Formats: sequence, C-alpha cells, structure tokens
Amino acid sequence: MVANNASTRQSVAVFGSTGSIGTSTLDVLERNQMQFQVAALTANTNVESLHAQCLKFKPAMAAMADSDAAQELANRLRRANSSTTVLIADDALVRIAVDPSIQTIMASIVGFAGLPATMAAAQHGKRILLANKESMVVAGDLLNQAAQRSGACIIPVDSEHNAIFQCLPESNRCNPTNSLQSGVASIVLTASGGPFRQFTADQLKTVTVEQALSHPNWDMGSKVSIDSATLMNKGLEVIEASYLFGLDESLIEVVVHPESVVHSMVRYIDGSVLAQLGQADMRTPIANALAWPDRIDAGVAALDFVRLGSLNFEAPDMHRFPCLALARQALRQGNGATCVLNAANEVAVEQFVEGRVSYTDISEINAHSLHSFTRTVPQNVEELFSLDLSVRQFALEFIEQRSLG
Ligand code: NDP
Repeated sequence: MVANNASTRQSVAVFGSTGSIGTSTLDVLERNQMQFQVAALTANTNVESLHAQCLKFKPAMAAMADSDAAQELANRLRRANSSTTVLIADDALVRIAVDPSIQTIMASIVGFAGLPATMAAAQHGKRILLANKESMVVAGDLLNQAAQRSGACIIPVDSEHNAIFQCLPESNRCNPTNSLQSGVASIVLTASGGPFRQFTADQLKTVTVEQALSHPNWDMGSKVSIDSATLMNKGLEVIEASYLFGLDESLIEVVVHPESVVHSMVRYIDGSVLAQLGQADMRTPIANALAWPDRIDAGVAALDFVRLGSLNFEAPDMHRFPCLALARQALRQGNGATCVLNAANEVAVEQFVEGRVSYTDISEINAHSLHSFTRTVPQNVEELFSLDLSVRQFALEFIEQRSLG
C-alpha cells in the first residue's frame, strides 16, 4: 500500500482480520489509505490468510491466538523478508491492544475470546470499533466503567447499533448515560428474521446446519449466522444495545424486517422516528465507525428505492424463537446472567455445528444453563472468566447426560 506520512494517519489494529468483518474492514481501509494506516493484524489459526494480509498491508505487528500458528506465521514472514514483527506470547493480542502506537482497534474477534483485547483497549483509552458484541454482552458494566475511567470511546459496528448511533442525538454518542434526557423515547432494532422466519415449530425440529448457515440477506461468519437463525443474535443485540446506549430493557423494541434495508430506528418523545437505511453490506457501518464524525467511501452501491418497491415489518415470534425471550430475561437479571447465557450459547452453537445437538436443542441448553446458575454479578474480569468457564463445563455435561439418557 502506498500512502502519505504515516504520522498523520489514524493507526488501526484489526483484531480478527481474517474473518468476515476483518476482511471487510481491510477493504474499507484499502480504499482510504491516505487517512488510515494498518498497524496490526491478528487471527486465531488461519496462517494462510494472515500471511497474505501481512504481505499486502505491511503492518508493524501481527499476532495469532494459537501459538503454533503464530510460530509458523513468523517463520513464513521471515522467509518472505517481511517487515512485520509477529508477537509470540500468551498475551500477544492484549499487548497489541495497549501498544502506544495503536490509536484505534477494530474488535472483530468472534465470541468471548474477543474480551481480553477489547477490555485492555477500554482500559487504555483507545478508540474501539466494536463488532465483537459478545464482549459487551458478557462485560457491559465493566467495559463501560473502564472506558469512562480511561476516556476510551466505543463506537458500534454491528449494523443495528451503528444505525442507532447515527440516529441518536450527538450528545449521546460514545456516552452510555441517560439517553432519555435528550428526548429519546425508545429504540427499535430491526431483525431480518433469519432463514427460518416462515418455518413452523415442527419444521424447525429437523433443520440442518447448512440451512442455518444460509442467511437470506447477510454474508457472515458461522457463529453469527447460526445466532441469526435462532434469533439469539437479536437477543445478544438487545443486551448489547442496553449497555452501549444506557437504556433499560423495556425501551428496546425488536421488529422483524425481512428486507434488511432499515438497519434500526430511534423513537423520540415528539413522535418522530429517525431511521438509518442502507445495503446489507457491513462496509457501511465499518466505514462510519472508522471515520466518525466524518464520512468516507465504503465501496457500497447506492440504494435503489424504486427497485426495492416495498418494506415490510412484523412482530417477532417469541414461541418459535425462544432465545430472544431468554436474552431479555438475562438482561433484566444483570451482567452475571448475560455472561451465563452467552457461554451456554457459544457451547450450544459449537455443538450444533459439529452435529452433536439439534437446532431446537440450542434454546433448551441456553434456558437450562440460565436457570441453573445463581444470579451473581461478576465484580471483575477474573470472576467473569471463572463464570464463563463453569457455564461451559455445565453446558457440555448437560449435553453429555442428554445423549446418554
Ligand atoms: P468470523 O468467524 O468470520 O471471524 C472471526 C475472526 O476471529 C477470525 O479472524 C478468527 O481467526 C478470529 N478468532 C476466532 N477465534 C479466535 C480466538 N479464540 N482468539 C483470537 N481470534 C479468534 O466472524 P465474523 O467476522 O462474522 O464476526 C466477528 C464478530 O463480529 C462477532 O462477534 C459477530 O457477532 C460480529 N458481527 C459480525 C457481523 C458479520 O457480518 N459478519 C455483523 C455484525 C456483527 P481465524 O480466521 O484464524 O479463525
């Protein structure tokens, strides 16, 4: 990449750069290389992709969560005479998050695994572009406290939350204090309804992993695709929205909107509703988060309203998709319960993808785990990690017992 003086550009570390959000982020960064510098890239095990990205974007640093993969990447980059330094250490990702040369982190690791780097960035006053919703779900209170202490700014990348961010009053952005003071009545998260929106309860019992991975509108990683198929994704987003915008659960509505054109809305007390519309292309919210408060090119085609024709809205069905109700219940209980639900769900989704449990088992595993843990609220990150681990063991044992029974 060719660009102007590095010091005038915003230095960005992309966590999870080999994933769906990570690669879209690199696409936007490549289009705007006069303003941004790719300073660090990270992945888990995908040496092939990260190696290619390092050669192309020439970041100063790279890291991989898997130590064997990190060593292989270091060897391959050395042979290619690359200038990228591969950090090899258990805490390599956290080291990148807090490195003084990094101004902005794109938090796009999937799952609870994204929490350590995101938390470290929040503690060190970084600009955090948050795609990794699970870290806000499990540690919303702690992340907000850390960001407030350090002055870190958390800008949502999830398309719904980025839409809300764009529709909120200026004073409420990057500040999860009381939005109602600015005349906000409630927020409305839109949901595509996923691939099984029109399936009956009986049909849902036999759906396959392949069907669940085929989202009608969005091209995403496997975990978020399965979450979209169970509506747990919308549940996690309700929790994420509550912590991001400082809103009570009762003020967060969900409406199914199959076209995925209206990405979400804010209702005001005077009856106005502000909505953000766009293509189902994550490069729009990514570009918005990267450049905020400015705007940059995202490479996304303009919406053609005439071709769209009509937009439809319907209520979500909480009986066929019980994960949404479970998420609301966990949110009312607090950060301990949201951590329990997230851990159970990560295990359930993994087991579904591996063919060990059925689609309808996912909500059952989540409900059983949520109801079985006492309502403790973790006071620090160590307690969160310990709770997450206990729930994972519990959920796996529950699955094992059921398959034996
Ligand atoms: P992907 O599965 O496509 O990518 C995940 C990325 O995280 C990969 O780079 C992967 O590396 C890395 N990773 C996986 N496990 C670990 C680990 N244990 N430690 C460190 N890195 C790890 O996910 P998505 O891009 O789809 O999603 C990322 C996040 O963004 C999720 O939280 C998701 O909910 C959220 N999101 C995604 C949207 C989308 O359109 N995809 C939309 C809105 C939100 P490797 O390639 O080596 O496995």
